[in-house]
Amino acid sequence: MATPTKGLVSRRQAVGAAILSPLLPAGAQAATPAPPLVMTRDALLAGLRATLDQDGILTGDAIGKRYLTRKQDDKPLAVLRPRNAAEVSAIMKLCSTARQPVVPQGGMTGLVGGGVAHRNELVISSERMNVIDGVNTADRTMTVGAGVTLKDAQDRAATLGFMVPLDFGIRKIATIGGMVSTNAGGEEVVRYGMTRESVLGLEVVLADGTIVTSLNQLIKNNAGYDLKHLFIGTEGTLGLVTRAVLRLRRRQDGAATALVAIDKPDGVPELLRHLEEELGGALTKFEIMWADYDAFVRKYCPDLKSPLGPGHTYYLVTDAVGNDAEFERERLKKVLARAKKSGVIVNAAIAKDEAERRSFWALREEAGAKFSEMGPFFGYDVSLSLADMPAFGARIKREITAALPAAQVLILGHVGDGNMHLVVAPGTPAEEAHHKCNEIIYGAIRELHGSVSAEHGIGTEKKDYLAWSRSPEEIVLMRTLKQTLDPLGILNPGKVL
Ligand SMILES: Cc1cc2nc3c(=O)[nH]c(=O)nc-3n(C[C@H](O)[C@H](O)[C@H](O)COP(=O)(O)OP(=O)(O)OC[C@H]3O[C@@H](n4cnc5c(N)ncnc54)[C@H](O)[C@@H]3O)c2cc1C
Repeated sequence: MATPTKGLVSRRQAVGAAILSPLLPAGAQAATPAPPLVMTRDALLAGLRATLDQDGILTGDAIGKRYLTRKQDDKPLAVLRPRNAAEVSAIMKLCSTARQPVVPQGGMTGLVGGGVAHRNELVISSERMNVIDGVNTADRTMTVGAGVTLKDAQDRAATLGFMVPLDFGIRKIATIGGMVSTNAGGEEVVRYGMTRESVLGLEVVLADGTIVTSLNQLIKNNAGYDLKHLFIGTEGTLGLVTRAVLRLRRRQDGAATALVAIDKPDGVPELLRHLEEELGGALTKFEIMWADYDAFVRKYCPDLKSPLGPGHTYYLVTDAVGNDAEFERERLKKVLARAKKSGVIVNAAIAKDEAERRSFWALREEAGAKFSEMGPFFGYDVSLSLADMPAFGARIKREITAALPAAQVLILGHVGDGNMHLVVAPGTPAEEAHHKCNEIIYGAIRELHGSVSAEHGIGTEKKDYLAWSRSPEEIVLMRTLKQTLDPLGILNPGKVL
């Protein structure tokens, strides 16, 4: 690797160099406004070129779609593709000197704009930090580069009889670094918790280029502050994740899946309690689809077949996972028969084999590709008490259709952990409608003491509503952390705070 400063004006030379305007994007709020640039942009790019190999820096037309969002009409200054923490460190030392804002990117599947980089910003992509360092079978850990996809990590663990206890539909693109930085959730949270619960250690590069190697492999380690939590769920605003140690679980292949229909308003929490009590820890997924979502699937996804009839208030897909699929199937059948007898559920179908299991899950996972059939739509990811969910869903539908009579509202979610996703197609020119929907949904969440972000983070999309879920004191402490770790405000500026 070339020396980090080669090709750069030194700090002393830089004092006399042209002072350019700060590179923060319009509207961005860093903890502290970045001081003026003390290095010309050409000098900075020359320094970066000298630091990275030829494929390590992309500019102009070489910056492809994967680094941009669909709506974006400008491109970042450059995309940097370091291979390890040392290269990220060299980049950050240069960027600190130059007061240059950077935006970390993983697979760019984030849904709140956290990875969006504009004209004057540099992208630091983790795509070449995609090596799995190894699996420690004794301690059941796996050390991975930040750019390893969830699917690759899952597959590697599976070959050794283990599993990464995290899963969601976009597994082939989402990266471990992105998941750590957003504290991603998904479908197995009801059993294993969010990403935070599966991260034992991290390697992180700070804004000034310091590498903090904290690749802890131990489950118990209370020696001082558990620093990894500064970087889990902080969306790249406090440091760049370069490697992670994941906690693995023993792989269990015996999965049974049921599709369940419920009409009773409080049937969902009742069924959850019932399954938790009777499945002895095997309950692994518990996902809900409201009636309108089911109707949407029947209309727009004719290839997806549901064995249950239309018109029920809620549909649930649930998995019980253990060592023996037949055992789990039989047990699920008995438990659901009892739930039907006691009136908690109306009907249930148990998947007879793996193909049918996949077809049940497709009803929940694959309709997203068709949402645009309703026209422009907005996605929401909120959480609240399970007890409040039925009334919340009904209230949101009522208030949105009162405000926007042509609107369609679909509701689904990881209901086992209080997480609801709402898809709202306003049926009217978008911008004003978006604000209206935000106020209705986040307003209700605020009243119910829920969270405006269950699992996707804040990014730029939800910044205006952070204070609706966090107290002033919490936000001041967040700003203090940001100021301490990134005093120049160059790490993902304008995101979260
Ligand atoms: C179809 C679909 C389904 C989804 N389902 C779920 C779901 O069930 N549960 C869920 O939680 N999310 C879900 N998501 C959202 C998204 O996949 C997650 O937020 C995921 O964790 C993002 O990973 P990524 O690699 O794409 O990160 P990116 O989108 O690239 O980045 C996300 C954020 O993390 C930061 N970041 C990325 N890499 C690093 C790094 N190495 N160091 C520091 N900061 C970094 C970025 O700056 C940004 O703020 C879904 C998205 C889609 C499109």
